[in-house]
Amino acid sequence: MVIKPKVRGFICTNAHPVGCAAHVQAQIDYVKTKGQIDGGPKNVLVIGSSTGYGLASRITAAFGCGANTLGIFFEKPPTDRRTGSAGYYNSAALQAAARSAGLYAEGINGDAFSDEVKEQAIKMLKENMGPLDLVVYSLASPRRTDPRSGVTYESSLKPIGDAYTMKGVNTDTLKIDEVTVEPATEEEIANTIKVMGGEDWEWWIDALADAGLLAQGCKTTAYTYIGEEMTWPLYGHASIGMAKKDLDRASAAIDEKLQAIGGESKVSVLKALVTQASSAIPIMPLYISILYKIMKEEGTHEGCIEQIQGLFARQLFTTGDRDLDDAGRLRMDGLELKASVQARVKALWGDVTTETLGDLTDFAGYRQEFLKLFGFGVEGVDYDADVGTLVEL
Ligand code: NAD
Repeated sequence: MVIKPKVRGFICTNAHPVGCAAHVQAQIDYVKTKGQIDGGPKNVLVIGSSTGYGLASRITAAFGCGANTLGIFFEKPPTDRRTGSAGYYNSAALQAAARSAGLYAEGINGDAFSDEVKEQAIKMLKENMGPLDLVVYSLASPRRTDPRSGVTYESSLKPIGDAYTMKGVNTDTLKIDEVTVEPATEEEIANTIKVMGGEDWEWWIDALADAGLLAQGCKTTAYTYIGEEMTWPLYGHASIGMAKKDLDRASAAIDEKLQAIGGESKVSVLKALVTQASSAIPIMPLYISILYKIMKEEGTHEGCIEQIQGLFARQLFTTGDRDLDDAGRLRMDGLELKASVQARVKALWGDVTTETLGDLTDFAGYRQEFLKLFGFGVEGVDYDADVGTLVEL
């Protein structure tokens, strides 16, 4: 079939298999141009590996370090009448490319929070890969069922204390409007911590350790966003920020356990970027559109793959100095948080109107990147061609 994007609000409900494969290939090519990362891992598990930062992590592990990878994701497979989700096609393309390069690359399409998927991963690792040198935790999920209690928790993206009114860009009408978000209740904050906090990361590490699947010196990292004043009311100091704080707690607990095998656990702070997860956060489309405008002008703009290749090469596996903050997190967001950049974001935020959206911000770039997440608008792809939806993982 000929596949055109079907965008509804902040999601695109279909994906282009050839476009997704080309988008993955472009990231593989980027990593290859950077050369092999000395001392990189050889056996890697990426939890949340099919899109965004997790996908970039798996690509960097495979093509920047020559690692065997097991990826865990939760994606919709295609039927002959309906496309699969972008993450499904991304995983298929990455696994095919990695296997062609002689690497082991398998995926589990299932709920990473469940005991079944953890057991399946352990079985596959024991049979095919052996102990891990790196575990990346890159899940972004709106809900989690706790396998021990059977209770399902929903996360929320709400301020704490007072309602918050902010400017935003309506991605359907393409107009600047004002949105008020009511504050989270105590229960909503606790539920968000349950979904996006560190508990499941700890359970993964415990399960892998008990199965003898953490190699000497094994590292683990989970990804966070901290941001600045502009995003704090809806991110850093909001319900999701409390969940991210819980990652710090979990990381310290995991680090203590990993020290026994000469390993380490670190939270990695990444920059704000267009991904499926960030598009759903009310403040992010406008913030990112303004940020992209400024960082592209300054020549400091980076996408997922540049951030993650840099994280592996200069932070996780370097023998040189690392950019750590006082809490021991690895920082990759320095250029975004530069005072001059944030001051310009604030000024443009105040000025922007529907009429000036195109001039004052990089909303066009935001939309282009958004569509690329689903395989649309990727260079070299013929979008009028009849393509099959069915692709093997
Ligand atoms: P994303 O939506 O692109 O990726 C989420 C991944 O999680 C996908 O692979 C998806 O399949 C997987 N997933 C979701 N629920 C799952 C489940 N139940 N079982 C198995 N897999 C599941 O998101 P992203 O933006 O790449 O976010 C990844 C991490 O990076 C998050 O912790 C996020 O907070 C963090 N981060 C994102 C940004 C940003 O601007 N996008 C910035 C800094 C940090």
